[in-house]
Formats: sequence, C-alpha cells, structure tokens
Amino acid sequence: MHTINDKLDKVTARMSAAAQAAGRPPESVQLIAVSKTHPAEAIETAYHWGQRHFGENYLQEALDKRAALSHLDNLQWHFIGPIQSNKSRQIAENFDWVHTIDREKIARRLSDQRPDALPPLQVCLQVNIDDEHSKSGVALDELPALAQSVWSLPRLQLRGLMAIPAPSADPERQRAAFARLREALDLLNAGAPAALDTLSMGMSGDLEAAIAEGATLVRVGTDIFGPRMPKSTP
Ligand SMILES: *Cc1c(COP(=O)(O)O)cnc(C)c1O
Repeated sequence: MHTINDKLDKVTARMSAAAQAAGRPPESVQLIAVSKTHPAEAIETAYHWGQRHFGENYLQEALDKRAALSHLDNLQWHFIGPIQSNKSRQIAENFDWVHTIDREKIARRLSDQRPDALPPLQVCLQVNIDDEHSKSGVALDELPALAQSVWSLPRLQLRGLMAIPAPSADPERQRAAFARLREALDLLNAGAPAALDTLSMGMSGDLEAAIAEGATLVRVGTDIFGPRMPKSTP
C-alpha cells in the first residue's frame, strides 16, 4: 500500500508549505488521518509510515478497528462524528479526544463516564460557523456559556474549538469561515480560566486555508485513504 505512504508524504508537504507561508513552525500543525469507512489495514499502513492520530466518525466501526489494532502502541483515537447520548459511555471509554461536543448534556455524560484510570478526555466544542449549512455545532452566541460549563467538568479537558464549514472552492470564503472560528477562540481565551490551544479545522479540500487562519489540528481523509468506501451497516 505504498499509495497511502505517498499520499501521507503529499499531505504533510502541503501542511508544511502552508505553515511556512503563514510564518508558523510546521510542527505547530498536527495531522489527524480520518479513516472512517477504510479498513484497519489502511490504518496500520499509515501507522508504519509514522502516523499516530486517527479520526473516526462511527462508533461501532471505530471499536472494531481499535480491537483489530490493539497490537500497535501509542495510537491516538479522535471521535469526530455526531454523538448520540446512548453512545457516550463507549466514547468516553475508548477515545483520547472528542471534537464534536455541542451540548452540555453530552459533555456532562462524557465527564461522568470517563474512567478514572484514563487521563481526562481531551475535547473540542464544535461550533456552527455558517448556520445555514449544518444542524451540528453550537451557535456562536451560545458558545461562551457552553465553554463555561465544560470547563467545570472534572474529567474533560477543554482544549479548543472545531468546525466543519460549508464546502467552498473559493479560498477567500474558506479563510473567512476559519477566521470566524479563530476569533471565537481568541474571545474565549480573553476571558478564560485556562488557555485554549486547539483549533481543529481544515480537511482535504481546504487545509491550506485553515492553516493560514491558525489550525493546529487538520482532519484529512480522502487525500490520504482515497474515496470513502460504502458505509458498512451499523
Ligand atoms: C470525513 C471527515 C473529515 C475528512 O474529510 P475529507 O474531505 O475526506 O478530508 C474531516 N472531518 C470530519 C468531521 C469528517 O467527518
């Protein structure tokens, strides 16, 4: 599967070039390889290339792959899909990061259910930065209140914000959406008990624009693993 290696080389070269163009150190941007619908073997190939952070959207599929890859050390699993409350326990028990918190109820459950033997769950709040586009994500005007309540939860560590902007081929529009997320983070940090250091934004088609606006985690699927496979039945 040298094509996965070649694609990882290409994506990381794009990331470095974008960071340098923005006057940022390349190591300030981390890659999350989004492996949803792709088999465990594809993750293992990327692992041997050196990739450690993987993003999954569907809980059962992710748990199956985690079990199949239990012989690999230091994998970091990021949950980046919508969270149903009846799935929160397994998410709290099996992931290192969750990027898609947009309600206090879910945050509270994840904190209550995070096992004591594990470090606090690293979390981002998902923000709806173009409200016409998506139902997921907290509205900008409700973000400060949600951030306050998540800060107070003992088993979650609030790291920052995540967004999935409406797709656009226009780099100016891409940047404008990412800039709104960066400004929202700056505003929270101005009144924050602890500094937030994470902006999870940018995918295959817009990672350059996201890095130009301060992304620290980019979530890339298609440009690493190819087109998504038909989703397996849940
Ligand atoms: C699928 C997905 C990605 C990856 O998108 P690509 O366009 O394939 O790079 C990133 N983030 C989230 C939340 C996703 O669901």
